[in-house]
Formats: sequence, structure tokens, C-alpha cells
Amino acid sequence: MIHYKPGRIFLSVPHMGGHETNYVQKALEDNWVSTAGPNLPGFEHDICQHTNARYAVALNSGTAAIHLALQLLGVKAGDEVLCSTFTFVATANPVLYIGATPVFVESEPETWNMCPATLREAIEARLKLGKKPACILLVHLYGMPAKLKELLAVAEEFDIPVIEDAAEALGSRYGGHQVGTLGKIGIFSFNGNKIITTSGGGALITNEEALAKKALFLATQSKDPAPYYEHSQMGFNYRLSNICAGIGRGQLDVLEKRIKQRREIYTYYKDQLESIEGVSFLPEPKGCFSNRWLTNIVLSEELNTTPESIRQALEQENIEIRPLWKPMHLQPLFKDNAYYGDNFSGRLFSRGLSLPSSSNLSDEDLEKVVRFLKRELLAAAPSA
Ligand SMILES: *Cc1c(COP(=O)(O)O)cnc(C)c1O
Repeated sequence: MIHYKPGRIFLSVPHMGGHETNYVQKALEDNWVSTAGPNLPGFEHDICQHTNARYAVALNSGTAAIHLALQLLGVKAGDEVLCSTFTFVATANPVLYIGATPVFVESEPETWNMCPATLREAIEARLKLGKKPACILLVHLYGMPAKLKELLAVAEEFDIPVIEDAAEALGSRYGGHQVGTLGKIGIFSFNGNKIITTSGGGALITNEEALAKKALFLATQSKDPAPYYEHSQMGFNYRLSNICAGIGRGQLDVLEKRIKQRREIYTYYKDQLESIEGVSFLPEPKGCFSNRWLTNIVLSEELNTTPESIRQALEQENIEIRPLWKPMHLQPLFKDNAYYGDNFSGRLFSRGLSLPSSSNLSDEDLEKVVRFLKRELLAAAPSA
């Protein structure tokens, strides 16, 4: 059991919209306390409405959604999957579940997501080795859309299908399109730390009916059509519960509000801290709209401090700050995996911090975080 001092300011916590209880209460009253019930198609309908995807399948985690997506694309044991290195491990783990091998691709500096040129380099190198990658698993990290136009052009040129891991990027847009809808399959997470939550949950979206049907089939133990339990394929217990889907329906109602609030938090931090020497932010490239799930800062080496000492100083004030994701190519789990790039994300990892970004962060708490950050950063100024 973890005990925190009261008043702690967390990185990202759930934020109820108010109407979740209506959906949940109705489910309890009608006894739909199950992985079946009206909130599931309701939630899926709402996801389609919000994303303009044709089909959505509600699942019990984003990780499960990635696992199914890989199978829908026919990825099998021994295959290679080109995967963003700069991400949370949940992107890459499902590749291992299948017995396939992730090959990691470095990010570019404008979005911190998979670099199209490095992707091409990786594909050409794998082809030379006689290994055609089975799919591309790219991430929209921290809500920032990846350079989809360029990435999809490379994917198309080599005829490799794309999965968009939009776990952190629900509601982000690329050239007017919702992220998750431009690849063959997109996935979202509704884990408790994400921009909206079902407590735990995820979804798979696609424009292809056959893929959506197959996803639902696999997620519900691959039951063949028969009056008894008949199975000709291995299946999974990956369906979201109707209770959680009810939470999701209430949460989706306020998604736009949550995006606005997270973006305002980003703007506040930027306005307050940007002028400090050695502190930088990630601006939105033209055509990208980020949900700003987390606000991150990068500290220059010239500062007379380290991101870790700043993290510790704010921890003393009961404020949670975190290093950026440690890239997969630096993880012990993947020490033997192929990797293409120049360690850009490794440098980000050693210089970056994620700041408290909950949509329900009070003005008072936000000011408090900024006050302590300023104290630390100004004291460490190169000219100080
Ligand atoms: C959270 C997250 C996932 C996994 O989602 P879960 O719902 O926690 O399984 C996958 N990829 C990224 C980038 C994430 O941040």
C-alpha cells in the first residue's frame, strides 16, 4: 500500500465529468454488470462520433488493443515489427506476447515521434537482411501527432500496414484528421492517468468492418457461431465491462473540455517558464493539434542543475514530476533488439521532465508548481 502525504500534486489523475454515475447507476439497476450491456455499443458509438472512425471496439486496456491490432494484421511469431523507441513499454510488450520482435526506430525533434527518414533507413536495412517488417507501430507521444503524412508515405511505398498507438493522444488532430484514424488500425487507452478514463480500458478503431468484427471475436474468447461453446481459434478475455463503458460515456461527453484544460495548463507553464534560460518546450508543428496530455520541459546542459535534482526538490514539496519516458532501445528488456537512430530520445530522456498536467489541477496548485520550478531553475541559471 502506497501512502502519500495529503495535498500531493500528482502528474495526471482522473477527472470525473459528473454524468458517469448516471450511466453506471443505470447499468447497476438493469443488472448489466457484465462484459455485455448497452453502455458498450453506446461507448463505441460515441468513440466513432468523436474520432470519425467507422468502427470502434471497447477493450479492457490499451495494451490489449495493441495485442489484437497486431494479430488482426497477421503479425506472427518470428516477425519483426517497426516500433517507436520513444514510448511507454506498453507499446512494445504486445509484440513480445506474439513472439515477434520489435525493431526500434528513433524520433525526430519536431514532434518527438517516429522519424520518417529513420523509418525508411530501418526498412531498407531490414530488407537487406531479408526480413520484411510485418507492420509499423507508431506512437503519438504525450498527445503530439507524429508526422503521419511522411510516415504513411514510407509505409505505403514498402506496403507495410500501420498501427497508430494513440493511447496518449485521444482528440489530437493531424491536418484536421483525428489521430488513430489514418493508419489501418488505431488504439486508445482509458487508463486512469490518460486524458479521459474508464478506470482501466482501451479501444481499437478502424474503418474496416472485417477488422472490427475480428477484433470483437478475438476479444471475447473466439466463440464460433454455435449453440454451444465451439472454438476453432485461440481467443482472449479482452472485452471492456459495461460498468467501465458507462464511465467512458460520461468521460467522452467532456473530452473537448479536458483537451482545452490540458492545453491551458501547457500555455500557463510556457508563459511562466519559457523566458528562463535553458528551459524549452515542444511547440506544435503546423497542421498538428495536440491534446497536450502532459506538458514537458527540456533543460539545457548549461543549467547548473540536473532534471533529477529538480524532480527531487519538487518531491520535497509533495509535487510529482517525472522524467520523460525512457526509450525502449535503452531498456534492459530490449538490450538485444535492433535499433535505428542517433539516440535523440535518449538525450531527451536525460534532459526532460513531465510536469503535473491534470485537467482538474487548481490554479493555486498550478501556481505552486511554477513557483517551486522557478525557484530551482533561476538558482541554476548559467549566468547565476
Ligand atoms: C498508456 C499507454 C498504453 C497502454 O494503455 P493501457 O490502457 O495502460 O494498457 C500504450 N501506449 C502508450 C504510449 C501509453 O501511454
